[in-house]
Amino acid sequence: MKALRLQGWKSRPELVEVDDPRPGPGEVVIRVGGAGACHSDLHLMNEFEAGAVPWDPPFTLGHENAGWVHELGDGVTDVEVGQPVAVYGPWGCGTCSRCRLGLETYCENLAEAPVMGGGGGLGLDGGMAELMLVPSSRHLVPLPDGLEPSVAAPLTDAALTPYHAVKLSLPKLTPDATAVVIGVGGLGHMAVQILRATTAASIIAVDMRPEALDLAERHGAGLGLISDDYTVKGIREATGGRGADVVIDCVGADATLAMGAAAARQMGDLTIVGIGGGTLGVSFFSVPYEVAIRTTYWGSRPELVEVLSMAARGLIQSDVTTFPLEKANEAYDELAAGKIEGRAVVIPNPGPTA
Ligand SMILES: [Zn+2]
Ligand SMILES: [Zn+2]
Repeated sequence: MKALRLQGWKSRPELVEVDDPRPGPGEVVIRVGGAGACHSDLHLMNEFEAGAVPWDPPFTLGHENAGWVHELGDGVTDVEVGQPVAVYGPWGCGTCSRCRLGLETYCENLAEAPVMGGGGGLGLDGGMAELMLVPSSRHLVPLPDGLEPSVAAPLTDAALTPYHAVKLSLPKLTPDATAVVIGVGGLGHMAVQILRATTAASIIAVDMRPEALDLAERHGAGLGLISDDYTVKGIREATGGRGADVVIDCVGADATLAMGAAAARQMGDLTIVGIGGGTLGVSFFSVPYEVAIRTTYWGSRPELVEVLSMAARGLIQSDVTTFPLEKANEAYDELAAGKIEGRAVVIPNPGPTA
């Protein structure tokens, strides 16, 4: 079969021929119906180098995946061949307390995980291929009726990640609160919709691109602000001087972190979900009092069930631009050039059968 593989650090992925995966006991092979092209893959292929993470190329890219069950390993009884499923991306040990909560992203027994701190498309072979090996059926979430794999795929990260962040801040997202989403890309355009669907808070979107603000406003942001020297002032003005109760930074660069800290309301939350690699100096007087600053990484398996439920009911939708597997590198090129509105999704198979 064909697969888009990262063959080495700081290299352009290559579409190559590889052997079809076969499932061992407890494992499942899925026929991939959609694999999201994530911004973090650009960091992975352009900036990472040996030692940055506990794994190395080569591996097949694609960590946001959905498709149809293709072949079952011995002992798998909880899914059926042909069934549409989303793949829960972070793969932990399955038995530590975090994994038992479904929060395998924070597995504490990484030596027993299929790959340390990764998953399919992150150290192990991902979904930018015709078939994908999933190491346990517990990572498969059946798709609700009406949700196609091509649409569900990006939800497994681009929606799950901001959903986890929003959920942590729900007590502060009262109807009189204001949430700010910085960066309206794959994650940000989902963050806006998730805030709209789960809270009555006012939503302000911040981005450098006017068209991204249009997208955010179509999805429920009440105000869009261009990211510049006046953004913090704009947020303060829009909130009667108080600032933002919750800031979700989907970029994570020096400038956006500083903006988020300066725009936060006292006792607010600043949650960093973007892996832009920026830093924020924290001292007694540098951030408003009692602002909680945290990072999050991905989300839990139960939260993926909740995200898919919201999508199936039309409460959130991923704006998807599709590419055939042969053009997967073009998807990444357009993503890098800022030309993708919403999410680029690679479609290795259009349906459950050949
Ligand atoms: Zn991702
Ligand atoms: Zn674990």
